[in-house]
Amino acid sequence: MATHGEAANGTRYDTIIAGGDVLDPGAGIGGRLDVGITDGRVAAIAPHLDRSMARTVFDATGQYVTPGLIDLHTHIYWGVTYWGIEADPVAARSGVTTWLDVGSAGAYSFPGFRRYIAEPNRVRTFALLNLSAIGLIAPTFELATLEYCNVPLAVSIIEENRDIILGIKARIDASTTRGVGIRPLEMARELADTVGLPLMVHIGTSPPTLDEILALLRPGDILTHCFRTQGEHRIIGANGRVREDVIALHEAGLILDIGHGTGSFGFDTAEIALAEGILPDVISSDIHQLAVQGPMFDMPTTLSKFLHLGMSLPDVIERATSRPAAAMRRPDLGTIKPGSAADIALFRVEEGEYTFYDTQMVARQGTRRLVNTLTMVDGVPLPRIPERKRMVWANLPAHQQPITSMHTK
Ligand SMILES: [Zn+2]
Repeated sequence: MATHGEAANGTRYDTIIAGGDVLDPGAGIGGRLDVGITDGRVAAIAPHLDRSMARTVFDATGQYVTPGLIDLHTHIYWGVTYWGIEADPVAARSGVTTWLDVGSAGAYSFPGFRRYIAEPNRVRTFALLNLSAIGLIAPTFELATLEYCNVPLAVSIIEENRDIILGIKARIDASTTRGVGIRPLEMARELADTVGLPLMVHIGTSPPTLDEILALLRPGDILTHCFRTQGEHRIIGANGRVREDVIALHEAGLILDIGHGTGSFGFDTAEIALAEGILPDVISSDIHQLAVQGPMFDMPTTLSKFLHLGMSLPDVIERATSRPAAAMRRPDLGTIKPGSAADIALFRVEEGEYTFYDTQMVARQGTRRLVNTLTMVDGVPLPRIPERKRMVWANLPAHQQPITSMHTK
């Protein structure tokens, strides 16, 4: 690959990340390569760049150099919503440079999300607007009052904020809808079709039923919590196999997203799906006030679970970079091909004995884990800064509480 780009000061590169194993599966770039960065963008990727031409050189020997991760399912409206954490401190230790907040803000609270979260964040920040105008101020019930599901109001907010709002979020299960049935999802469908953006639907427990939900999903929509283990919305049918209707929708273009979270990832469901050759399209964390305490913890831990399940490292990285970028309809992100923004993560793959837990605290013994060592946004390393302590209400469910004593960090 040719090198190009001459910085104004005579050095060719602001930074070279030297000698790492570059892994950008979505762009088909891989191997022992140097990455040259100029003015916040990837200027060159080549087997050897002249290190004397760079102001700063990071030695990445023995590490993987990937596009900064994209987390398609996060909750980062800190201080305003029940679930929100702060993104920047977690990004600096986990390699996640693009954060999609899914539904924390509704129409009434989106201006605050833009002003107080998206604009000041160091990380790239986007959102799916909650169908409910009150968003996720409280843990649940946001769709139970249909007066808050104001489609014309949501359309107005989206039209003013299309640079940040990339789709619609609706959590559809018994607790969020509480007696109003499938009506909120019909309204979310109408909203998504009106603005021409994808719809992410969270599933949980009936009512409404998974049949009713699937009937309203379209290619390009996102089914999050796809490998949940409990509840009537599990994608595994009574015959112990992935439901035929889910397979048909997936083949037509429905995006299956993990959204691990506190209640939505089961090794049993994952093992059945993967054995049938049904891989998730996107691996996301559903990081929030509870899930960040474990057993989800962060994106590297979540991705390591899929390495344990037998997926290859390129397959896993693709599902946290170019695949979520495609789901967000932002193919410019999630890649480090020359010309792209220099959002870059470095990882070591550590070998040892690691116990991974799903949300039911079912354990699996793994032998590899991803450890993030550097995270850059626009070519600038994110500083490691302390994370805020959890909110007073953020108590893990009883069966998960042992994880906090197991985890030593
Ligand atoms: Zn979530």
